[in-house]
Amino acid sequence: VRIVRYGDEAGDRWGIVEDGVVLAASGEPFVDLRPTTEVGSLDEVRLLAPVRPHAVICVGRNYAAHAEEFGNEAPAAPILFHKPVSSIIGPGAPIEYPTLSARVDHEAELAVVVGAPAYRVDRARAAEVIGGYTCGNDVTARDLQKSDPGGQWTRGKGFATFCPLGPWIETDLDPSDLRVTATVDGERRQDGRTSAFIFDVPFLIEYVSAFMRLLPGDVLLTGTPEGVGPLAVGSEVTVEVEGIGQLTNPVIASAEGSHG
Ligand code: MG
Repeated sequence: VRIVRYGDEAGDRWGIVEDGVVLAASGEPFVDLRPTTEVGSLDEVRLLAPVRPHAVICVGRNYAAHAEEFGNEAPAAPILFHKPVSSIIGPGAPIEYPTLSARVDHEAELAVVVGAPAYRVDRARAAEVIGGYTCGNDVTARDLQKSDPGGQWTRGKGFATFCPLGPWIETDLDPSDLRVTATVDGERRQDGRTSAFIFDVPFLIEYVSAFMRLLPGDVLLTGTPEGVGPLAVGSEVTVEVEGIGQLTNPVIASAEGSHG
């Protein structure tokens, strides 16, 4: 099943995509979501990020080849960090290039969406708490990530609009060997497979849920393959994950003096 969120005059709603058509849905994702009436075709309906998480927890350097491209060793345990939920945007929404950074990178990632409360979950039972998967872009102000004191990544990873997610949640997917790519203005920049993960999805669910209560809708970004590179104002970046679909976002200059 492909679960979407979309906007209409009544506000934000859950929907289900079938054969390129968005159907309105009643109930809650991963509990009792059921399709009802037809809303329109995918190109007519404005999709929003398909999650409303309490937390977005991310894994750094989960592909050895990506760790190496910045001269880092493959980590012995997962490197974890958060992105603020206020950084989430949906498909088609603009990534705002902040004035505080001169180097903003794309990071194509498989995003795991938690489907049930998860605390101290053994890796053998991880599938029971996973609701589905979507595409994520862990947009990063690389210069700030490197220069901020104490190895802090919060500022470099946390700007508003730095967490594109979508276009939908695919609930039926085996995450163990999926192609993950990033394309900028038609140029393929990243091309990896989740089979190259240092820490696979079941291990990450066990590791994270060992200390943190995960709630339905929470997102786990699983790390990016090698080939990260810069975005520019005016460019368009597409993250594609095999078996899910494409997440495309334009890059615009950050609005000066915006307080919205
Ligand atoms: Mg990342």
